[in-house]
Parts: sequence; structure tokens; C-alpha cells
Amino acid sequence: MGSRRDFVQKMTATVLGAPLLYDRTGLKTLTDLPVDGPMLRVAIMGLGSYGTRVAKAMQTCKRAKLVGVISGTPSKIVDWQKTYNIPEKNCYNYEDFDAIKDNPDIDAVYVITPNGLHHSQVIRVAQAGKHAICEKPMAISVKEGEEMVQVCKDAGVMLLVGYRMHFEPNTLKVIHMRKAGEFGKIMFFQGQSGFKIGNPDQWRLNYALSGGGAMMDIGIYAVNGSRYMVGEEPIWVTAQETKTDPIKFREGIDETIQFQFGFPSGAVASCLSTYAFSHNDRFYLNGIKGFAEMQPSTGYGPIKGRTHEGPLTEPIVTHQTLQMDRMAEMILDGKKAEVPLDGEEGVKDLRIIEAIYKAAKKGKKIML
Ligand code: NAD
Repeated sequence: MGSRRDFVQKMTATVLGAPLLYDRTGLKTLTDLPVDGPMLRVAIMGLGSYGTRVAKAMQTCKRAKLVGVISGTPSKIVDWQKTYNIPEKNCYNYEDFDAIKDNPDIDAVYVITPNGLHHSQVIRVAQAGKHAICEKPMAISVKEGEEMVQVCKDAGVMLLVGYRMHFEPNTLKVIHMRKAGEFGKIMFFQGQSGFKIGNPDQWRLNYALSGGGAMMDIGIYAVNGSRYMVGEEPIWVTAQETKTDPIKFREGIDETIQFQFGFPSGAVASCLSTYAFSHNDRFYLNGIKGFAEMQPSTGYGPIKGRTHEGPLTEPIVTHQTLQMDRMAEMILDGKKAEVPLDGEEGVKDLRIIEAIYKAAKKGKKIML
């Protein structure tokens, strides 16, 4: 008879990404599963706050391993070498990292730098023949995003966007319920994403590096979430911007935007993106037969929520650990993510964000 290991391997082969894979009897994270196969050897570019979070999370990955760094700060490189046992030959700076093409010990580079740098850095990674994982937003314009997709295609490498919620079990549970018709016809989605931003000198408030304000940084979760929760692509957008602090939030840096989508089925969405206040991380999906409510909905977790059937009880995971193991399976084994997160998906969000900015500026409905 098959062991639990056999069972897990069999299930892994058939339903990648489905929460059904996991028992609830003691597995703390989904990556506690015994997984076989080679490791994806990753270099992280940008050793800032999120890069650090990803590096720590990767310590418990089963299929992905941090083997290299790219940074402009030599002291950080030394610290990371000690912490993560990274050999000198796998350390680069922003000037010399094209030489990674001659390094057979690195498979992929995870770009975790300010948004405005993603375009040129991902293109250089692809041209060095390495797979690119890029943080959200993948770029600061549709044009940039499309170029990145094309260059990666031409170079024969994968481009994945760091949409960690696409693997999160409670999120997937709601998506499965929606696909199974348990909410009935979807009528309404509400997505609220935001936090009160601090230091006015940070790159997030510098247009050249951020490409926008709250919308680019955190509002993108409500944009992306609208799409995977409703299961459709919006066909129109309306938006209204409010600014209480025009000194901190200069021209091009949005503070608060409320935006609405219409979907082909007739469903509508009403969302809010802000840098003005915290405790603003909530999704609500409403169908004619039921609902799902998640709060927090896209923070680092634990993701909590309920549906008309009761509380969401899928396993609590470290998002970045699961994301990197799943991305390794995609890159090394050719598996597909249940909720796609390739470069084209990143461009779809950028196209919607550009429409939101246009709608807010013109005060008109924008068709997509
Ligand atoms: P951060 O400021 O903490 O780190 C940015 C890093 O980039 C730093 O190490 C900095 O030294 C480096 N850098 C290189 N060139 C730079 C330049 N010209 N100006 C400023 N910094 C430069 O920022 P972060 O919070 O780590 O965000 C980095 C990326 O990760 C952003 O794209 C952000 O949207 C994304 N992010 C994603 C999540 C998520 O949950 N997926 C969470 C936080 C941030």
C-alpha cells in the first residue's frame, strides 16, 4: 500500500496548488511536505526589507535555495554571505551583474528593488540567460512591462511576478468555492488595500523610483485581487482621487484612490487604495448564494476570513516559502500556477492601473 509520501507525490502530480494536498494534523506549512527534485538556485537582487523577508522564508524551502546576492552595498553582501553561507563567486553589484551569465550555479534572479528599476534589471537578467522573478508592480508602465515580457520570451527564460497570494491556501479555497458555484453568480467585490506611509524621503514617494503612489505599491493588491476573486477581467473603470497632504504626496504620487470596475458578467467591484491610513486590508466577495470575507486579505498573514458556510480554516503558511517552492516547480518541472502570475498577468494589472489613473484624472469612465 502507498505511504503518505506516495500519496502526497501522487496528489502533487495531479492537483498542484490545491489545498486538498495538505493534511491538518501537524503540518505547519505546506512546505513541510516531502518534495523531491532539484533545487532552484536563486540570487536575490535588492537586499532591503522585502528581500530580507524572502531570504529568511527561503531557509525552509524544499525546492528553492538562496545561493547568490546582487547589491550596491558591500557591507550587506558580507552580512548576507555569513548569514546564508553565500560563496564570493555568487556575489555581484548593480554594475557587474551581467557576468551572472557565466555562472552555472545560479538559475534565477529575484528582483526586489524599487519599482522603477525592475524594467532594466529584469531585462539584464534575461539577457544573461537567467529566469527572472520580479516583485510587484512588475514595472511602472504597460510599455515597460510588455518589453520585459518580450525580452524574456526572446531569451527563452521565464518571467514570474511575486504575487504571493496566488498560492495562499485560504485565498485558493475561496477561488475554488467560486469556481464550484458555491457563491452563485458573482455580483460584487470589494477590495481595500492600504497603510499609513511614514518617512517622506523614501523611494515609494519618489515618482522616478515608484511610478506612482499607493496604487502602484499596495492598491495593486485590490486590482489583482478583483481579478482572481471575481474570476473575470474588468471591462470598464471609474476612479476618484483624494489628497489630504499635497506636500507629502506630490504630483504623480497618489494618496487615496477609490476605484470601481465593471465585469462582462455584470458583476461590479468597488475598491480603495491608500497611503493615508492603516488597518485597511479587506476583501469581500458577494454572489447571489453566498459570500466570502477576508481580513487581513493580502498582508503577510495569517489570512483570516469566513464564508457563508463558516470560517476559512486552510493551513497557515509562510507566503514567501510556499511561493518560492511553487515557483521552483514552475521553472524546473514546467508546472503551472493555478492562478497565473507570469509577465503577461503583471502587464494586465498595469493596464488596469493606467486606466484607473486616467479615469481619476479625466473624471470619466474608461473602457478597457
Ligand atoms: P526597500 O527600500 O526596503 O528595499 C529596496 C532595496 O533596493 C534596498 O536594499 C536598496 O538598497 C535597493 N536599491 C537599489 N537601488 C536603489 C535605488 N536607486 N534607490 C533605492 N533603493 C535602491 O524596499 P522593499 O520594501 O524591499 O521593496 C522592494 C520591492 O519589493 C518593491 O518593488 C516593492 O513593491 C516590493 N515589495 C513586495 C512585497 C510583497 O509582499 N510582495 C512587500 C514589500 C515590497
